[in-house]
Amino acid sequence: MEEVLIENGNVLLFKNNDIIIKKLNILIKNGKIEKLFSDNEKNKVYEEYNINASKVGNSDTLKNIHIIDATDKVVMPGLINVHAHIPMSIFRETTEGCKLYDWLSKKIWPVEDKLTEEDVYYASMLSYIEMISTGTTCVNDHYFISNAIRKAAEDAKVRTVLTRVLMDSDGEDGLKQRVEEFEKLYETRDKENSLITYTVSPHSMYTCSDKALEKSRELAKRYNLPVHIHFLESIDEIEDIKNKHGIPAIDVLQKYFSDIHTILAHGVKISDSDLEVLKNMDVAIVHNPVSNMRLGCKIADTTKYLQNGVNVCLGTDGQGSGSNLDMFEAMRVACLIQGGIHENEERLNAKDVIKMATINGAKALQKENEIGSIEEGKVADIILVDISEKLDNITMVPNLNKLANLVYNTSGRNVDTTIVNGNVLMENRIIKNINVQEVINKYNKIIKRLF
Ligand SMILES: [Zn+2]
Repeated sequence: MEEVLIENGNVLLFKNNDIIIKKLNILIKNGKIEKLFSDNEKNKVYEEYNINASKVGNSDTLKNIHIIDATDKVVMPGLINVHAHIPMSIFRETTEGCKLYDWLSKKIWPVEDKLTEEDVYYASMLSYIEMISTGTTCVNDHYFISNAIRKAAEDAKVRTVLTRVLMDSDGEDGLKQRVEEFEKLYETRDKENSLITYTVSPHSMYTCSDKALEKSRELAKRYNLPVHIHFLESIDEIEDIKNKHGIPAIDVLQKYFSDIHTILAHGVKISDSDLEVLKNMDVAIVHNPVSNMRLGCKIADTTKYLQNGVNVCLGTDGQGSGSNLDMFEAMRVACLIQGGIHENEERLNAKDVIKMATINGAKALQKENEIGSIEEGKVADIILVDISEKLDNITMVPNLNKLANLVYNTSGRNVDTTIVNGNVLMENRIIKNINVQEVINKYNKIIKRLF
């Protein structure tokens, strides 16, 4: 694995409860952040690591070291998308004018019935290209035909939490088959590949019977995995869950998952009494603001959730409802919409949403010791955002508040470099290990067949 040296960056660091930006250099070795050091320490560090300082800045170095000049770049932890359906690039902009249930039953499920492994592979590759190019270095998936997604994850080299979604709205045989597929997926995992980990993922409480939830619990216990489930995304769900299980959603959650780390996607319709229960449970809420508004699901009160000490992180959902996988857009919208429900009140700010998109996501995925911040010893999942004063960045000028600009005036297109596990996947906006045009061509043929 090559060593990487990021020089002269404006490095985003978490300090106590605050976020600061500091001029630093970063040495990456064996996929990890080996050293963070100031210009004053340069000579000492170069000597210690046998870097030929006189040659730094051009490619002809003593060692095989990859140097990235981060002048006029913000160097920050890679963004963590905690709720996505990776292959759903296929459904981008199919939701216009639909309610959630209608969209699923009329637009999504009939096409999903026709999907092949090859379709899912290329649909996933297209999403991975989107993630790499917009700064996402870790994604938590919620889909099926997972062997094809896994193959794409291995090829794209983006950190991925994989699953095989479970449900039984079509009966017991359906559940049995899905459980077998999950078991096979998990048991054939490559234990050496730390980039791919797993959750147990019942689709939701309205598509899973008690039996399916009990089975999900059993799998999570057997394999010691977290659970990832859609939870209180829309108003229709509240009654449906009561009718299906005989008790409210919050009681269903406690009944099956009270002693399992559980990732709740959406949580739009969480009441104050629900919150009282959630704050004492081992849960994280994934806020998907763009998807929630596209589907008319209202706005989750993330300010209140955070004030109550519940971990809130950020996701995009699939492109079908979330439009895209750009986590910068998710950050901006997540921040702005709180102003729509908290008139003149204290509410979450740019720093809060930067945490939601990084360290909070790492905690939700139980990976906070590995990723989510730039610290010595953590793995090198890092992105560089271009803040140079030029036409493409004109909305950042003047850059008096870099953190606010990251949230309000940055899009995924401003991401210049994406590094996962020390691998430079994109540099100067060139994606290195994927033939982008080939993926687009293949993908277009698939879309033509499906629609
Ligand atoms: Zn979803």
